[in-house]
Amino acid sequence: MEYETVIGLEIHAELKTKTKMFCKCLNNAEETVPNKNICPVCLAHPGTLPVINKKAVELVLKVGLALGSTIPEFSKFDRKNYFYPDLPKGYQISQYDQPLCQGGSLSLYLSDDLEESTKEITLTRIHLEEDTGKLIHPADGKSTLIDFNRAGVPLMELVTEPVLHNGKEARLFCQGLQLLLKTLAVSEAEMEKGQMRCEVNISLAPKSKVKSQKLGTKVEIKNLNSFKAVEEAIDYEIQRQRELLEKGEKVVQETRGWDEARGKTYSQRIKEEAQDYRYFPEPDLPPLTNISKTFDLEKLKAELPELPWEKKRRIIKQFTGQATIGLTTTLERKPINIFLEHPEYLQFYEDTINELKNEKIELKKAQVLARNYFLTDIIGFMEKEKIKWEDSKLIPLYFAKIISYLVQDKISSRVAKDILLEIIRTGKDPEKLIKEQNLETISDIGLIKSIIEEVIKNNPKAVQDYRNGKETALQFLVGQAMARLKGAANPQELGKLIREKITG
Ligand SMILES: [Zn+2]
Repeated sequence: MEYETVIGLEIHAELKTKTKMFCKCLNNAEETVPNKNICPVCLAHPGTLPVINKKAVELVLKVGLALGSTIPEFSKFDRKNYFYPDLPKGYQISQYDQPLCQGGSLSLYLSDDLEESTKEITLTRIHLEEDTGKLIHPADGKSTLIDFNRAGVPLMELVTEPVLHNGKEARLFCQGLQLLLKTLAVSEAEMEKGQMRCEVNISLAPKSKVKSQKLGTKVEIKNLNSFKAVEEAIDYEIQRQRELLEKGEKVVQETRGWDEARGKTYSQRIKEEAQDYRYFPEPDLPPLTNISKTFDLEKLKAELPELPWEKKRRIIKQFTGQATIGLTTTLERKPINIFLEHPEYLQFYEDTINELKNEKIELKKAQVLARNYFLTDIIGFMEKEKIKWEDSKLIPLYFAKIISYLVQDKISSRVAKDILLEIIRTGKDPEKLIKEQNLETISDIGLIKSIIEEVIKNNPKAVQDYRNGKETALQFLVGQAMARLKGAANPQELGKLIREKITG
């Protein structure tokens, strides 16, 4: 039987504010001393009152504006009541029926080398709440410790509609959202550090039933702390549920965890009916009113930086001269896709181009060279040598210098490749390297000519072969001369001189 998978995501992101959501304690995710950034408010001592952190509201509004959400004029905070030791108040201040942002969408870019397509993922809402403390379970197994540094840290929750269909789409969504949050400087959004957390709701139903609006039993997967985990856990879960249904068994409505090492989800707790959190409006906080004026939404929107998808369009245009990627050839698409899938590469490339603007050289030519050397030499080399991007010591300024030398024919492509690899490893300044090792292209024509004469004298067979029409013999001779010149010559120029000498 054919099944339709329906997936919705709930993503939490810790906001990058100076202070916590409702008090003046520092919001510092890097703090290693437990219970350092705490006060009577975030510890919920009796008689204390919360105060809204305006910056946190602003950050969520920015995300909503970027994603095209509707921002209502009125919003409020609510108490979500439940008991857990990491929640000092016995309730969490969250938002229930009137969140800061409603709707909106994020477009996924589903690409491979051959075709491009996009998929619009619609959002239900984005709201603002506070984070909980952290429970620490020491190895002795006899006690549990609580660190409240994180209690009261502003937390954004984004909920998608159940419109995703597989692990890859969910991963791409998380990656796309992370890139946006980083671009907007709203959150560090590192999943491995728990700054961005993803929960998945997943259900399978026979295709015929979907049409009658009857969805399958919903299973929730929690604690997915990497993009890889999101994708693998979902794909595993789809398979698990399909096998159960095919055997005629029932899928239990429950919360499952992800065992990374075993590559399996496991049952954590059976969910009975939806939990009753007894939501009610937070009596200690005023509602947010007149939001468009209070937060000057027009200004906020005008001040948004270039968004990832805008950047994508600009890059496609810059690389191909075309407005959309659909009009480009496969050959043109491949490098674009590599840059678009790795924002860190794109940043590096763009920083390099900015450095090159300071040089008095032909920029168009430099751009093309930079792109080619980046993709084939830098990335190719790092993949081959298994060097991680963050471990490369090459900075955009140095890469720009190398490209500039190439454009000016100061170094040969052989030299450029060699020093690039050395700088990736050592971080040395190319200017120094070239001077120290005498790598500048030899422009001393007398020296070049004497070396050519020697090479011709020492390789009579190759010379004869070339005279007999064997083109590769010329390449051999160029190689010989190049070796004597330690690569510091222009190969085309060398070939031309040798040909002239032989054919006289
Ligand atoms: Zn506090």
